[in-house]
Amino acid sequence: MTQNEIMAQAEEHVLHTYNRFPISIDRGEGVRIWDSEGKEYLDFMAGIAVYALGYHYPGYDEALKSQIDKVLHTSNLYYHAPLAEAAGKVTTSTGLSRVFFTNSGAEAIEGALKAARKYAWLKDGSNDHEIIAMRSSFHGRSVGALSVTGNTHYQDPFKPLMGGVVFAEYNNLDSVKALMNEKTCAVIMETVQGEGGIYPADPEFIKGVRALCDEHDALLILDEIQCGMGRTGEMWAYQNYGVEPDIVTCAKALGCGVPVGAFVLNEKAAKASLVPGDHGTTYGGNPFVCAAVSKVFDLFEENKITEHVKEITPYFAASLNGLMQKHPCIRAHRGAGLMRGLEFDENHPVGAIINRALEKGLLIISAGNNVLRFVPPLIITEKEIDEAVAILDSCIEE
Ligand SMILES: *Cc1c(COP(=O)(O)O)cnc(C)c1O
Repeated sequence: MTQNEIMAQAEEHVLHTYNRFPISIDRGEGVRIWDSEGKEYLDFMAGIAVYALGYHYPGYDEALKSQIDKVLHTSNLYYHAPLAEAAGKVTTSTGLSRVFFTNSGAEAIEGALKAARKYAWLKDGSNDHEIIAMRSSFHGRSVGALSVTGNTHYQDPFKPLMGGVVFAEYNNLDSVKALMNEKTCAVIMETVQGEGGIYPADPEFIKGVRALCDEHDALLILDEIQCGMGRTGEMWAYQNYGVEPDIVTCAKALGCGVPVGAFVLNEKAAKASLVPGDHGTTYGGNPFVCAAVSKVFDLFEENKITEHVKEITPYFAASLNGLMQKHPCIRAHRGAGLMRGLEFDENHPVGAIINRALEKGLLIISAGNNVLRFVPPLIITEKEIDEAVAILDSCIEE
């Protein structure tokens, strides 16, 4: 099939919930992908922060292939070695104590919300517990995850959603304090807001929320589905703050390309929440995805991926600052590690820049209103940053 035929056939049969870019991706290698006509692109979106190690990182494919030769799926009614290994690596890395593997980010959020509700219910048996979520947050598209997503545009057509959710303002501790009471069972927030426009948590805010949760015996759920797995230079973004959540959610880069997510609980939350019969998944944490997770942690460690992120971040940040100085239409530059955003003024819609960049061989995406989002593979080099910045420079110029 030609690229046009692929696009036409997909448009005919796939439910139209995405406005896709007009290319069909054929293969990837390193930090580049090729479309079905053979055109090459530098990838600065990494499948939305999924391909932390880029495409075909040495050792990754081999680990997956050898698991295919053994067994792909077992259900969760049996033990298997990849589960034992991946679970150990996730809990060691997060500093928490127990993990539940899911198939996606949204499902990790669902599990975390259920654990928080159960934790509170076990204490007083009542069903009026509240979850404090943040405005401009994003936690996924399933009904529970959507209920804590502070975006009316995403929520409104699907109401009534899950009840017992109230919204505070991100990085405004007083707004959280004002909503905290004896009914509060959890606060859920991203450590770095992603879809909302790349806003890292202020240190005083996240520490203050942690303290408020401790005071009220509410669970702190940190959503690190996008900002976790080394993206900020620490394996988990909360490790930049010296704060620990009671539950962390992850997905995206957890398997570096296979569909896997997880919610991970500390001992306090694990010991007084979900028990057999409360929660489940048929596919979640199957041998194939666990083999990927396990290999990803090994590769991160062997190849010092987080050290690389720390080293390259100042260069990347300086390059984006350079773009901002050159182009007055760029209003702000924010971010942490290799998760960064450039905010443009209203007269410069980022959609046009993104489309032009695609034509010029650079994959990049937006976040929120008028923010160009950078979530490249974590293995990106200075040379590739220069290449991306040069393309963007010319696109903004135009
Ligand atoms: C992508 C994302 C989700 C949802 O993950 P899915 O795998 O798409 O369900 C939730 N939270 C954050 C912060 C995300 O970036």
